[in-house]
Amino acid sequence: MGDCIFCKMANGEIRPDVVYEDDQVLAFRDLNPQAPTHVLVIPKRHISTLNELSPADAELTGRLFLAAREVAEADGIAERGYRTVINCNAEAGQSVFHVHLHVLGGRPMRWPPG
Ligand code: AMP
Repeated sequence: MGDCIFCKMANGEIRPDVVYEDDQVLAFRDLNPQAPTHVLVIPKRHISTLNELSPADAELTGRLFLAAREVAEADGIAERGYRTVINCNAEAGQSVFHVHLHVLGGRPMRWPPG
């Protein structure tokens, strides 16, 4: 996906503030953080939304969450608590159409979310 900003991060064209990387997953700090820890975990392969995930992506999906766990450990928020969020399409507020898992923590989270 030539014009996808997260693909450019995944292929090294743009280098964000990376906090975790493996062969399939990249995690970096959000440009506009909504909490002291706000990290986005993405698959390196382009997948537009959660709706485009297939059963073949089950392992990849698990890896996104395992990376989130690593990020929370590294930022020292694993025991205090943190939130993971994937926004899917317009009503959820998705603005970048490359699947990303938000990892938010370092402050109390409210429920329900807005
Ligand atoms: P969403 O609204 O769920 O699609 O989330 C998109 C997120 O990407 C937002 O939290 C943005 O602040 C973040 N974002 C957009 N562009 C960048 C960028 N260049 N580097 C880091 N985070 C970004």
